[in-house]
Formats: sequence, structure tokens, C-alpha cells
Amino acid sequence: MLPLSGPALMAAGRRAFMIVWNEFPFALLFPVERRASWTVSLGLSRLAGGVEIPTTVLMAGSVVLTPPIVIVFPAGGRLLTEGRTAGAEKGKTMLTAGQILQLIRAGSCRTRKELIEFTGLSRSTITDRVDRLIDAGYIHESGVATSGGGRPPSVLDVDATRRLMLVADLGATHARVALTDLAAKPIAEEHTEMRIELGPDAVLTWVREAFQRTLDRAGRPAHEVCGIGLDVPGSVDHTTGRVIRSFLMPGWDDYPVSEAIGTAYEVPILVENDANAMALGEWWSFWRDSESMMLVKVSTGIGTGIIIDGRIYRGVEEAAGNIGHVRLRETDERVCTCGSRGCVASLASGYAVASDLGRTSSREVVRLVQAGDPEAIARVQEAGRTLGVVLATAVSLLNPGVLVLGGDMAGTREHYLTGVRESVYRRSLPYTTRNLEIVTSSLGERAGIVGMAVLVMEHVLSPSAVDAVLAARTRAVS
Ligand SMILES: [Zn+2]
Repeated sequence: MLPLSGPALMAAGRRAFMIVWNEFPFALLFPVERRASWTVSLGLSRLAGGVEIPTTVLMAGSVVLTPPIVIVFPAGGRLLTEGRTAGAEKGKTMLTAGQILQLIRAGSCRTRKELIEFTGLSRSTITDRVDRLIDAGYIHESGVATSGGGRPPSVLDVDATRRLMLVADLGATHARVALTDLAAKPIAEEHTEMRIELGPDAVLTWVREAFQRTLDRAGRPAHEVCGIGLDVPGSVDHTTGRVIRSFLMPGWDDYPVSEAIGTAYEVPILVENDANAMALGEWWSFWRDSESMMLVKVSTGIGTGIIIDGRIYRGVEEAAGNIGHVRLRETDERVCTCGSRGCVASLASGYAVASDLGRTSSREVVRLVQAGDPEAIARVQEAGRTLGVVLATAVSLLNPGVLVLGGDMAGTREHYLTGVRESVYRRSLPYTTRNLEIVTSSLGERAGIVGMAVLVMEHVLSPSAVDAVLAARTRAVS
């Protein structure tokens, strides 16, 4: 391909022709002297002197050549310009409807006009994408955008009300389910104390029934559910929805959680580790400006969720953040749930503190601390310092902007946190922790539910998922 594009060649040709042609009107319009011939200096040939052309030839040439100039150049120019636009649209990434939806979700574009300007795609392409998104109920057109004048354009916005999500957060001793809209906003919730060691049949039966109860309470049909998510206190293969292993979940190893729930719903079902879900919930709700965040969940056990650039970091074995079984004191007499001695979980988890205080659960410890029990407070702070030793290493490795303490021990407010802060600041380089915020969870017991809702929302609104739904609708119609 020549470096000169079609339109540029056309412009150059037109300019050269006009240089020649501009001599003729003078010859024709200003016949100050009736002459048999006219000296015409042709553009560059001016240097070489004039050319003698008979007036009759000039007149005839004018009559013959004017129509092509008037018609051919503008038409040719238009054709080439249109060709260039069509080619540019082909060369541009042809955004799918699902990708257009992301621009609307992110707030990058609020109107059809803004979409055309932002993407460079044609009006008809944008209209096609937007109309299909509206028909499928992903977005609606409403309100009025401020504009410079003329007919005010309508604003495009995500329609979070037409589709629903069901989410469950399963801890070692509790279970919580929620029905939410497509903006992760809860519509109905249910909570119960339940031991996960009852096994998958009993626990997931309760989850399925609780899902149905939340739908009934909200008066919404099951076919409006577009995605389901569950988190569990153990490692999971998030691609297959199976539990890999968990010391807190006997009987769940390799259990196909998503299959068990999927018998009632034909929608995507995501299964996630609880600390990962909680971390995502906190990040999405309060820390979206932070590119790296860690949440440490301290309840019966200890687990960590890591968020990097807004995504859960899971590691190659889906075991990232599994710091509970780092062995700190190998000679300690306490045996951990994993069978080893001296794990940080056997020294600093809610269950470990409860055992030391002659109690059975981390929630009892929280109640003692809230009641001002000095022994409980001292033990909780010591546990915080012990966990802080491991967290100092994690902070030095990742250099996160935020470290959130979640799980039951977050209920002790400053006490556990004070211990964590002490160790992390004392054992890390000052510039690593200079901008580190160490805080307790703001979502509290609901962090897992919110995180799962966000995870499912991002999944069902992802470009590929949306395009798949739109393609299925098109197939159903045709
Ligand atoms: Zn252990």
C-alpha cells in the first residue's frame, strides 16, 4: 500500500488540476482583448514561460471539462471518505454489546452520543448494541442528561432490578443467605447458627430451603435468579465449584457444591473461599481506590484474602492466603486442626483463645471482651501480636494499602487489632507500612455475603456472559 491514502491522492490531484484550471476562467471572464489566442502560464510551467492557446480551444475546453470537475471530484472524494470510515470501523475493535455494557457500568459513557464519540463506532452499530441490551433488560433509558441545547438525550443506566442473585456465606459455626439485586444490594436475608461439620447434605439442604424462603419473602420467582454464589471456610477449586480441602469441614473434601445447588437452578454457580469473598466485599464497599488489599479472617480458624487490582488473588493451588498453618512454635504442646503443632491457628485463632479461656467458641470470647473481662482482653491482644508476626511477613511481601481484620475477632474492636498493629509495625520496614491502614472490617458479619454478591455480579455482567445471554435470546427468537 502506498503511503498516500486514497483521499490524500484525490486531494493532491484536485489541487494540481485547479492550478491548471484557474487560468481558464481568467481567460474566459476577462476577455479585455478579443484575441485569437491567449498566453496561458500553466502552474509550474510558469517558470518555463507561457503557452500560446487559441481562444476557441480555451472555450471548448471549458465546456467539455467543467462537468467532470463539478461532478467527478466531489463524488470521488465522498466515495473515498466513506470507504475510509467503513474501513476504520472494521479496523477498530468491534465492541460487542457486552463490552458496551461495561462502558455504561463504569460511567465512561452515559448516552448513545457519548458511546459513539468514545468508541468511534457508527450510530447504527451503537444503536444495535444498546437496543439489544435494553430488550434483554440489562440497561434502561431514563432521565435527562444536561446538554448544550436541542432535544435532551436520555441517560443509559444499568437496570439492577430485573435480575436477582442468591448468595450464601458458610462459616464453621454459622450460615447466612441473601437475595440481592444485580447491584449486590440485599433484598432479603436469613441467618442461622449452624456447624458446617454437619456435612454437605444437611448444610446445603438448609441453604436451598433458605434460598427459596428469601425468594418467597420478596415475592420474586426463581426464574429471575441469574447467578448463585457460596463461600466456605476452606480451599475450593473455583473453576469446578468443588471443595479442595478444609480442616474445618470434615466430610466436604472434593464435594461438588455447585452441582448440589445447581439441581434447582440452571444458572452460573460460583464457589469461593470465605476469606477471599470477605476481602472482595470490603474492597468493593470501601477500598476501591486501593490497588492491593489484604483481609485476615480470624474466627474459629485463620485465613487471608488478597485483592490485587480489584481481583481475588488465588494462587496456583487456590491456596494463597492460607497462613493459618504457618508453624511458629514447633515445640508447642497444642495440636492444630491440621495435626501439626505450633501453627499460628493453634496459637491465635478464635478457637485457640476460647480454649485457653475455658470456652468453646470465638463468639464467647468476643462477649467476654465486650464485657471488659481483663483476662480475655489480655489473651486476645497476645493472640493479635502472635498473628501479627506472620502478617508482618505478608505485609512486607505484598506492600498492601489496607489490612482489614475480619471474622469474629473483629468484634473485639481495638483489642485484637492493637496486638496485630504492634507486631506488624515493629517487624516491618517503616516505609513498607508508611501508608498502610490496619482496620477492622466495616461490613462485619455481612462481608462474605457482600463479597459473594459482587463476585457473582461481576461474573453475570461480564462481556462474555452478557454476549452469551444475548446470543441465546437471538437464537430463541429466530
Ligand atoms: Zn495447623
